[in-house]
Amino acid sequence: MLSNFKVVLVETSHPGNIGAVARAMKNMGMDQLRLVSPKLFPHADATARASGADDVLRTATEYSSLQDAIADCRIILGSSARDRTISWPSVTAREAAARWQGCTENVALVFGRENSGLKNHELDLCHYLLRIPCDPDYSSLNLAAAVQVVCYELFVASGQEYPSTIGDQGDEPLATAEQMEGFYQHLQQTMADIGFLHPERSKSIMRRLRRLFNRTQLDTKELDILRGILRFSQNHNLK
Ligand code: SAH
Repeated sequence: MLSNFKVVLVETSHPGNIGAVARAMKNMGMDQLRLVSPKLFPHADATARASGADDVLRTATEYSSLQDAIADCRIILGSSARDRTISWPSVTAREAAARWQGCTENVALVFGRENSGLKNHELDLCHYLLRIPCDPDYSSLNLAAAVQVVCYELFVASGQEYPSTIGDQGDEPLATAEQMEGFYQHLQQTMADIGFLHPERSKSIMRRLRRLFNRTQLDTKELDILRGILRFSQNHNLK
């Protein structure tokens, strides 16, 4: 999955960042790392920061120029935090993920130096500028953090994230309308029996209670419990 996406780091200064990039990639199921003239690599700091993603470091390939690193790629995205004086066409990380996650061609995701980013002549080799939207007054992310965001967007766009469990029902089937009606009758009767419900106010209170319980989408087991409580309080009241 996503193996056609090549993360290309240009002249990274801190080996620790290379390790952190490997980790960020592996978290998102990616393993294709290309290094253009890294200052210090291999290095113990890289391995330490990779923290289990050293296989990504081991298989990383080194190049002496960006041209060589992207030679087999058909789509080149150069990521940059800076607003450039010359304007390149730009996409956000999310737009890029939506647009290219399904493509089968090699896509290069190029990241610049920690202190000075990508040079203009390097961006000239790119089809699009890749932007991670953030506070314009402080827009430069740490290199590995930038790689993380881009790889995360690709991961999500490729449909590999776990679906959310909000709104999932458990194993029990939801209560039917008839069962809910029986419950509301029972509830109203019990509230009257225990002297809680004044006949004049019963309509509006019942409507609110219906709204409350309908919002929660009770299942049959939950309904059984509630009806058990109602039965218990009715019996208790009669004693
Ligand atoms: N000081 C550098 C930024 C270096 S951060 C500069 O002025 O450009 C290292 C790399 O992380 C950048 O070259 C870029 O590839 C990536 N990066 C950091 N923040 C980013 C952002 N907001 N959008 C896209 N890429 C970003």
